[in-house]
Amino acid sequence: MSELPSSEHRCPHCDSQLEEFEIPNELAWGDATQLACFNDDCSYFKEGWDWMWEQYRAKASYRYRLCPYSGKVTPLAVWSNEALRDRIIKREN
Ligand SMILES: [Zn+2]
Repeated sequence: MSELPSSEHRCPHCDSQLEEFEIPNELAWGDATQLACFNDDCSYFKEGWDWMWEQYRAKASYRYRLCPYSGKVTPLAVWSNEALRDRIIKREN
């Protein structure tokens, strides 16, 4: 396993530490392991519900996501608070 400096990455919207997670195969593009903000109180995530509803009439939102190798920031679409949480990689301290 390569070491990712996840502790150095924080969400610019809520200042939470980003969590490393494994992207499901069907959504995979680019990096297989990515970083995202899983804070349910994050303003980006909370505002996403309204935005998605107004734009697409979709009950979905998105979380702040960073691809650590490419450095790209893109929204990670989620359909519930729990979505993708089971993909979070917990590391030993
Ligand atoms: Zn956040």
